[in-house]
Amino acid sequence: MPSSRRLVDYEPIIGSVSTSKLKQVAGDLAGMKVVHVNSTREGGGVAEILFWMIPLMRDLGLNASWEVIDGNPAYFNVTKAFHNGLQGNRVSLSDSMKAAYEETLETNAERLRPVLEEADYVIIHDPQPARLLQLCPNRKGKWIWRCHIDVSQPNRQVWNYIRSMVDGYDASIFSMPEFAKTLSHPQFIVAPSIDPLSEKNIPLSSDEVLSVLTQFNLDPDRPLITQISRFDRFKDPVGVIEAVKLLNSAYNVQLVLAGGGATDDPEGSAVLAEVQQAAEGVENIHVLLLPPDAHRIINALQRASTIVLQKSLQEGFGLTVTEAMWKGKPVIGGNVGGIRLQIHNSHTGYLVDSPEGATLRMHNLLARPELMTRLGTTARQFVLENFLCNRQLREYMTLMLGLKRGLANHLMAS
Ligand code: UDP
Repeated sequence: MPSSRRLVDYEPIIGSVSTSKLKQVAGDLAGMKVVHVNSTREGGGVAEILFWMIPLMRDLGLNASWEVIDGNPAYFNVTKAFHNGLQGNRVSLSDSMKAAYEETLETNAERLRPVLEEADYVIIHDPQPARLLQLCPNRKGKWIWRCHIDVSQPNRQVWNYIRSMVDGYDASIFSMPEFAKTLSHPQFIVAPSIDPLSEKNIPLSSDEVLSVLTQFNLDPDRPLITQISRFDRFKDPVGVIEAVKLLNSAYNVQLVLAGGGATDDPEGSAVLAEVQQAAEGVENIHVLLLPPDAHRIINALQRASTIVLQKSLQEGFGLTVTEAMWKGKPVIGGNVGGIRLQIHNSHTGYLVDSPEGATLRMHNLLARPELMTRLGTTARQFVLENFLCNRQLREYMTLMLGLKRGLANHLMAS
């Protein structure tokens, strides 16, 4: 269920100027039908964003809705292969894989065609629903392909196939300029953002944080290192374990690797098994499999953390980084993709290229508590200024208006 929060609830955080700017842009989009389509209602960053974006668009007078692709395991295996291929892995697409993908979207198009063809704007998230455009020949609105993943070095075969489906869109959105592609329509750069009032991010009482630590047998008096992520190899959970194993035992840290699955990610259980094997027999490593609605638990774990890691090897953006920075935590992130938008080395956190690098940075931080406070304070301010939902919403609506008025320029940032 999308949130029931309203724009007015955000004003104490984002200020009255930001709320009136949003209302001003939204005024010209009043009543417009906006349909977002993705492939999961829970798990992963896209669902996290749509959860707040739909109600806020509605509160601003847009007629926004959210549709989800109904897929079978064969379809999700193929779309995971797309994901892996677009992020640079070697992947081979067979005709039967393409058929499984195309058939699922044909079935979904039967169901969704009436709502999509009459929408003023359709925002298609990631490659999973990309083919819907070709299956809606009588569309009347503008179609935007929103790519959340790092497509800077894609597998050629996979990208050529995806490009054949997305080239016909009216525009696309990428999270950073490095991800933009050669496409025959305008491309926009919009970074993702978090909802400061979600269960994931609202302030929690120290009692609630403590009770979560107790629930998972964690010691509140020992330093806590966490990485919260789907169990996905691009998130490098095994590298995190290596980094913590290399840390001097005198620091007496506990590591939590917490994550759940996303319904559109079929590889989670295999990766979880790899992680459990790497952690086996190590007393201070806790691998937690969380349900999809464990937002307050994740919030509490992030708040209880001494240091947050997000040691991804490839990352479209990394909302988990934003979430931890918003909580004033020092974050050590992989030196990749959208994490680089958020972590400015030695100012808002640390960027690392290896487990050894992560160990070294953990060591620096644990030895100097005042450094943790300084990085965390700067990080929170940086999120306030750049990565809260009002900014992303304004940019989406601005580019929608630009498309409506035919003013879009290639690579225009709003
Ligand atoms: N998340 C969650 N439960 C989990 C793992 C992750 O709710 O078990 C959330 C996490 O807090 C973040 C989002 O899912 O809000 C993940 O977004 P991110 O951009 O970090 O990565 P993605 O999963 O989209 O690759």
